[in-house]
Amino acid sequence: MNIPQPELQILPASETTLGEGLQIRRALPTRLRRTVGPWVFLDHFGPVDIQHSDGMRVAPHPHIGLQTVTWLYEGEILHRDSLGSVQLIRPGQLNLMSSGRGISHSEESPRPHPPELHGLQFWIALPDAQRQMAPRFDHYARLPQLERDGFDITVIAGAALGERSPALLFSDAVGMDLSSQSAASTDLPLDPAFEYAVLLTQGEAEVAGQRLHPAQLLYLGGGRSEIRISSDRPVRLALIGGRPIEHPVVMWWNFVARTREELTQAARDWNAGADYFGQVHGYDGDRLPSPMPPWA
Ligand code: MN
Repeated sequence: MNIPQPELQILPASETTLGEGLQIRRALPTRLRRTVGPWVFLDHFGPVDIQHSDGMRVAPHPHIGLQTVTWLYEGEILHRDSLGSVQLIRPGQLNLMSSGRGISHSEESPRPHPPELHGLQFWIALPDAQRQMAPRFDHYARLPQLERDGFDITVIAGAALGERSPALLFSDAVGMDLSSQSAASTDLPLDPAFEYAVLLTQGEAEVAGQRLHPAQLLYLGGGRSEIRISSDRPVRLALIGGRPIEHPVVMWWNFVARTREELTQAARDWNAGADYFGQVHGYDGDRLPSPMPPWA
């Protein structure tokens, strides 16, 4: 078991493209850090004006070994999956997809759609006990919200500040959204057994004494019982944390596993149309083929 220690590491997000041409910033994994607790992936998309475009179009694709956590600041996304779920998500709501042994889904801007799209998608690695579970999809229309020292806080996943998200997690983890409309400062209690990171998405803030700008993930390590978050202007950030994972995770494309062999098998199975990934109905377009890993 890793004993988490306090650390400070600023990790720049990398620019990449999602689906059909949506520019996004990927804050996890990075070259310098691959996980924060069980959190293994963090994409920040937008804000982008999609008034005169299709917006998000991510064709049917598979997942194994993870939970996807979708969280919007602005706009709407329509989720369809191989379980038959068709779910519109709006700001303040949570889409949580637990892939277990295999699921497939598409994500798209509905037609018509609001003019702006802005949000986050996180992945949480499933622990061994749930990696082969039956896939499921959960939508949460309401999550615990509170005000603290000028910050509006939503507990997206896990428990914090006396509130507990209803989100079905299989890992010891927490995810929170914090925003302020003006200058604000708070000391936020943390679990010393967790490691944490903060992604700043709008404005500027000082977190644990570090000046933080958009597209920067601040890794905080663990062993902390609180951090101070201060801003002199409107700011928005995401705080993620959790107990460090004991099993190293490997990832390829949309797959999270323990070994390269599992990743290779998943890519082959998806491309061969294996039943366990199911079918997504209603997406206007072809499904995405899996690239084969370089070691295969
Ligand atoms: Mn996906």
